[in-house]
Amino acid sequence: MISFYPGPSKVYPQVKEYMMEAMDTGILSCNHRSPEFVDLSKETIKLLKKKLDIPKNYTIFFLSSATECWEVLSESYKPLFSTHIYNGAFGEKWYLNKKKLDANAMAFEYPIHREISVNKLSKLNSSYTEAICLTPNETSNATKVSKNMMHKVRQRFKKSLIMTDVTSSLGGVDLDWLSADIWYASVQKCLGLPAGMALMICSPRAIEKALELNENKHYNSMVAMIKQMERFQTTHTPNVLNIFLLNKVMQMRDPIKRISNQTKTRMQSMQNVLQKNGYEPLIPYTRLRSDTVLAIKDNASRITEIKKKAKKEGFVLGNGYGDWKENTFRIANFPAITNDEITQLVDFLKLNA
Ligand SMILES: *Cc1c(COP(=O)(O)O)cnc(C)c1O
Repeated sequence: MISFYPGPSKVYPQVKEYMMEAMDTGILSCNHRSPEFVDLSKETIKLLKKKLDIPKNYTIFFLSSATECWEVLSESYKPLFSTHIYNGAFGEKWYLNKKKLDANAMAFEYPIHREISVNKLSKLNSSYTEAICLTPNETSNATKVSKNMMHKVRQRFKKSLIMTDVTSSLGGVDLDWLSADIWYASVQKCLGLPAGMALMICSPRAIEKALELNENKHYNSMVAMIKQMERFQTTHTPNVLNIFLLNKVMQMRDPIKRISNQTKTRMQSMQNVLQKNGYEPLIPYTRLRSDTVLAIKDNASRITEIKKKAKKEGFVLGNGYGDWKENTFRIANFPAITNDEITQLVDFLKLNA
């Protein structure tokens, strides 16, 4: 079976070997305050910064999931009034999470076939823009927010803390780190690792603001995490196995610029072939489409049929999500999936068009 599910998705095959290596090194039995763990943590953070082009002065934290990041951010930056800009299910979930924990949240929804309107953004209630929350790669409907748009949002809200959910793009495409203050992602998507860990990457400004707010009521409050990370440690016993695997995968992977080019080129050609064969992407305009996830639209019975047929042939297609559950299937274009596997899937889809 080859999984094209957009998360959890295909894990790098080398992970099998790395898991055995983790057993052999003894790291899995080390205390998380031990020098062995600190070395691993420090080395992994260094590698992440190098391979993903993350600015040296940004801080990286190990968390458990993107969902946990929603909660950490809602609690740690609580008094900040936030506007959540989104067009799909994950952006909305984040907004609802914040709303539940802290009423100071406002939604700014935009249609999936349009770009974010900077004009409308300018009319936002300015008291709600202390934090701006964005989902630059909306996994549920396979849209993206372009780098150019991210830049415009940054320019428009110079003083705001900009927070981003990049769960299905971190490690798949290159990100413009200066265009936002907080970036988080779980590792079971473009990083090709087993689920159960997330990374949160913060600008110096994000750290300063958290320290200034000084919210310290939770085991995973930012203030407590910052204090521990000064020594490359965590507030609780972290997912040491996954940190080890991340380290190994980062050593093995190409620099993000190269991976990003491959991701984008492969998505382009996959879309072209599928469209030529009569498949209709959910998102009509190429510039709005995600580089890492493709959603194909059709009537519900045809979607069910193609998913069933694919499964028989050994391909797992992603179900639709949220509003698009019945009428779309999704294909992950994540780096752990090989070109050959994409070709096999495209050939299957061509035959069954
Ligand atoms: C998958 C996904 C999540 C949820 O990730 P968890 O690891 O289950 O918390 C959140 N946001 C986006 C954009 C996602 O793609």
